[in-house]
Amino acid sequence: MGLLSSLFGGGGSNAPAAPTVNTSGVKIHPAVDNGVKVGSSSFTGGTIKCLCTSNPVEVKIGAQTAHNHICGCTKCWKPAGADFSQIAVVGKEHVNVTANADKLHVIDADAAIQRHACRDCGAHMYGRIESTDHPFHGLDFVHTELSADAGWSEAQFAAFVSSAIEGGVHPDKMEKVRARLKQLGLEPYDALSPPLMDAIATHVAKAKGVLT
Ligand SMILES: [Zn+2]
Ligand SMILES: [Zn+2]
Repeated sequence: MGLLSSLFGGGGSNAPAAPTVNTSGVKIHPAVDNGVKVGSSSFTGGTIKCLCTSNPVEVKIGAQTAHNHICGCTKCWKPAGADFSQIAVVGKEHVNVTANADKLHVIDADAAIQRHACRDCGAHMYGRIESTDHPFHGLDFVHTELSADAGWSEAQFAAFVSSAIEGGVHPDKMEKVRARLKQLGLEPYDALSPPLMDAIATHVAKAKGVLT
């Protein structure tokens, strides 16, 4: 046994095997269940459509999205059968409804994010923050899996994972869910990712004058 392994106890045949969690059959979201497909750095946007087979709402997004992630909160729209949503942000100036805008309605006018959804199929087409005081004002939230265009930025982490329990996932299943997310390279967080939490706290600190 070498010096390092004798100091740290690694590598020897006596070392206990790392506990493994069987993640077979654990589903997160159709866009990542078969592996995360990396986006294209040259991608410049595309069109998303709601699920209606006739007269779908169409929204043109004229830029690549950012901060795409898997979300366990109960507010984000999820495809049928999925325990998580997938959601990305893009500057609101790049988001334009190009067809059947009359089918859109706001799910909850009092929510910080105004989620504009199709009345007929229920798909959320874009979430907009109207309050200029909000840290993410100017950004729209979109589900790029609703697009037939390839190259959208890939999911990079998983947010509000524990909230999936409020959405109906049994607490006993959470260990497997987190293991599967890690397996997919989607670090699970119970809030947003550290960079986004830091961005929110920076905004608040500036508003309070703590940070100048
Ligand atoms: Zn969410
Ligand atoms: Zn629809």
